[in-house]
Amino acid sequence: MFKNKDSYKKGYIDLPVDPSLNIKDEIKRMRSEKNAIILAHYYQTGDIQDIADYVGDSLALSRAAEKADAEIILFAGVNFMAETAKLLAPGKKVLIPDTNAGCSLADSCDHVEFRKFLDDNPGRTVITYVNSSSEIKAMSDIICTSTNAFKIVESLPAEEKLIFAPDRNLGNYIARMVNRDMLIWDGACHVHEEFSLEGIIKLKKENPDASVIVHPECKLPVRMVADFIGSTGALLSFVKKDKSMKYIVGTEPGIIHQMNKSCPEKTYIPAPSTDSSCGCSECNFMKLITVEKIYNTLKFEEPEVFIDESIMERAAMPIRRMLEISDKLGL
Ligand code: SF4
Repeated sequence: MFKNKDSYKKGYIDLPVDPSLNIKDEIKRMRSEKNAIILAHYYQTGDIQDIADYVGDSLALSRAAEKADAEIILFAGVNFMAETAKLLAPGKKVLIPDTNAGCSLADSCDHVEFRKFLDDNPGRTVITYVNSSSEIKAMSDIICTSTNAFKIVESLPAEEKLIFAPDRNLGNYIARMVNRDMLIWDGACHVHEEFSLEGIIKLKKENPDASVIVHPECKLPVRMVADFIGSTGALLSFVKKDKSMKYIVGTEPGIIHQMNKSCPEKTYIPAPSTDSSCGCSECNFMKLITVEKIYNTLKFEEPEVFIDESIMERAAMPIRRMLEISDKLGL
């Protein structure tokens, strides 16, 4: 999928940056010289979010990629997001600072096994979460994000039988709200799967005034103790309009940077994880991206994202369908 010339083996350009340089000013200078834009996901570190042209969740970033009039799109996020940008802007050079930035959820849906699953269950409309590879998108009828998943499902004719992939938690969350014949692929994101129900309950007892807000990729028991469930963008919007002053946040804690910027007077407590390796709920893939790698990527214009021509158009089609429906629904 990726053709990165000399940087391919490492997956990123690992060159030291001259410490006398003001790296953020240099990024700004190169960005304007090269007519480049930087798109950053909410799960990136705060310093990356602060140098980006657009910060958002998957739906907002897909739109930004589609509408970008820059020649270069540098994607501070994970591989499937950079691939989505390339699918929506095939004529542009799309760069990702580290091709090791995968996604456990996208990886939980292998394209050979998924093909077999579709063949075993023919005649169903395939709705696929954007957190998936281009190969999986090319087998899908329509893509969704956590922002629009429920509305996308609702927009399809009632008689259509459905397949939802790859996230079982988001799929189950939607299935509980709609009365649809829907088969759900058994995939998950390791970050959202590992939020600790006991840890959240303990935090809530210690902070009874805090609202629990979680992402729909979390497991059902965690969702059941939540005061609000929503996509990353929806959690941010909720915090802005809600009256609470304290939140236990059940998603990747990168979003807390934007919450702090929007409502600095409020308190945000990251929900604890059962992951014993770090005890935190950071996405190790998202956190592979650094300001130094962004500098080198912009400087050398590598690694660049290339998608196999044979699936390019087919994989872009269900994403465009999602954007059209989202526009109609005002999402
Ligand atoms: S937080 Fe989960 S879904 Fe998001 S990029 Fe990381 S592994 Fe993938």
